[in-house]
Amino acid sequence: MLNKDIEKKLNDQLNCEFYSSYLYMSMAIHFDHYNFKGFSNWMKQQAQEELTHADKIYSYLNAQGAKIELLEIGKPKNHWESALEVFKDALNHEKHVTKNIHELTNMAIDTKDHPTNIFLQEFVTEQVEEESSLEEIIQKLKLIKDNINGLYCMDRALGARTH
Ligand code: MG
Repeated sequence: MLNKDIEKKLNDQLNCEFYSSYLYMSMAIHFDHYNFKGFSNWMKQQAQEELTHADKIYSYLNAQGAKIELLEIGKPKNHWESALEVFKDALNHEKHVTKNIHELTNMAIDTKDHPTNIFLQEFVTEQVEEESSLEEIIQKLKLIKDNINGLYCMDRALGARTH
């Protein structure tokens, strides 16, 4: 049995992962609109990955006998001025997710909930990777600025992402 506060916050995190997937799909649509297939591919892969995060939380809540409740998923932003702005938004969103995961981990530690603490470790590590890969792309986009050759080169590189 999970502590009620942890159960609720994990349920909220389930919703947050679905929202993340929705946001990345909106970003994929944006890039497809401008025919940047590689950027779009990267965002679609990211959207899929968020669904696997949601599924992991779902399975954990289920294994703990929690009552899972699907909440409303908000409409994501759908217009950006540049690729750089898209990735800056993605990074800000991931920082918000990291904060949630850390708060959840603190709650698990404070209540000596060892299973939830262990379950969350993978998410803690994952967030470091998420932020780091976005930072790397942002740094490159800052160097490229509006250089179209640079953008297409980056598009080709991001098109290679397969998972
Ligand atoms: Mg996630």
